[in-house]
Amino acid sequence: MIRKIFSRPFTQQEAISQEAIDAATEVLKTGRLHRYNTIENELSQVSLLEQEYANYQGSRYCLACTSCGYALSISLKAAGLESGDYVLTNSYTLAPVPGAISNAGGRAIFVEINENLVLDLDDLAQKATSSGARFLLLSHMRGHIVDMNELMRIVQEKNLILIEDCAHTMGAKWGKKKSGNFGLAACFSTQTYKHLNSGEGGLITSDNAVFIARAIVLSGSYMFYERHGAAPEAEVFSDIRLQTPNYSGRMDNLRAAILRPQLISLEENIKRWNKRYQIVEQKLQKVTGVVLPERPDEERYVGSSFQFRIPGISHTKAGKFIEANKQLGVEIKWFGSDEPTGFTSNHKSWKYLEYQDLENSDKILSGLFDLRLPLTFSLDDCSLLSDIISECVQEYQSTK
Ligand SMILES: *Cc1c(COP(=O)(O)O)cnc(C)c1O
Repeated sequence: MIRKIFSRPFTQQEAISQEAIDAATEVLKTGRLHRYNTIENELSQVSLLEQEYANYQGSRYCLACTSCGYALSISLKAAGLESGDYVLTNSYTLAPVPGAISNAGGRAIFVEINENLVLDLDDLAQKATSSGARFLLLSHMRGHIVDMNELMRIVQEKNLILIEDCAHTMGAKWGKKKSGNFGLAACFSTQTYKHLNSGEGGLITSDNAVFIARAIVLSGSYMFYERHGAAPEAEVFSDIRLQTPNYSGRMDNLRAAILRPQLISLEENIKRWNKRYQIVEQKLQKVTGVVLPERPDEERYVGSSFQFRIPGISHTKAGKFIEANKQLGVEIKWFGSDEPTGFTSNHKSWKYLEYQDLENSDKILSGLFDLRLPLTFSLDDCSLLSDIISECVQEYQSTK
């Protein structure tokens, strides 16, 4: 029996660095917090962030806005979605994803996932045909990346417009290509629990000038699109600027100022996350009854959270298993619950949508557990929490 109790909070991110705090203080001293409030020849913090993120991502254009959910929603609009259009998306995702589809006026069609927590590509192909959907909002949920070669084959065959939700794959790759560089556009989150932290915030990247011009105007550019950091030339906006509504959702200079220094540390932090991930992986893969998602060689993931399955576990036992972990200080989330708890919900609780039968996903989600691995956890912490989970699994096994 492990007597040690885990005592670190799973929601505690690292402090904002002194450099970022200083950058924020500078912005506050100027009073120019709005992205278009610049003095002569000044590029705002938001525009600089857009340039730097486009550069990091290897994309031509970038737009910073208020959240990833907002980014997804205006991306669908900028991609040409019209009210009532179908949008294919993952059955396993976070609530803001179907929310963004609904906000844009679309109708979500959920595609089943497989045991590796990524899209079931046969179901995708079949539903693309049967629905006639033009859009695929691909959510790389919890950082698991589907076989992008196969996916792109279907995207081309079915003539789908692909938008990637990279809230959990900022910095990740499939093969040599960055996650987010496969489709028309990608959306990223800078909300506290993601890979960069400005409290709230979103980024859109794209290589398509017309798409990004529409997104810029949608985000509420007034007529200041020429003050953007990573935007196309003014000509591109000539019609778009008058034909596109303003859905006001800009990022401000304060947030951009604290994100810019964080971007410099991102690659280093990815290594730190993956070290933590691999400790938990090594321990849990040895536990009987626990199944880990396979991570293909082509996938360069960012291990900022960890998922494991206990196939066949009943709802009652799952509840007990979570409670046993909690008693020992380990906060585990469960995607199988009929009731949404905190950040975790599934398609059954999105009742504003017509019910969709997702038998395979339901089966997988009923045995799917999830935990955050914030960088405030030491390697020893990761080792201890894995031991606690192992012990709780063994306890569950013995009462099965
Ligand atoms: C967090 C998250 C979002 C939305 O991000 P916000 O910035 O909070 O709007 C979208 N998709 C996934 C998978 C997420 O985890």
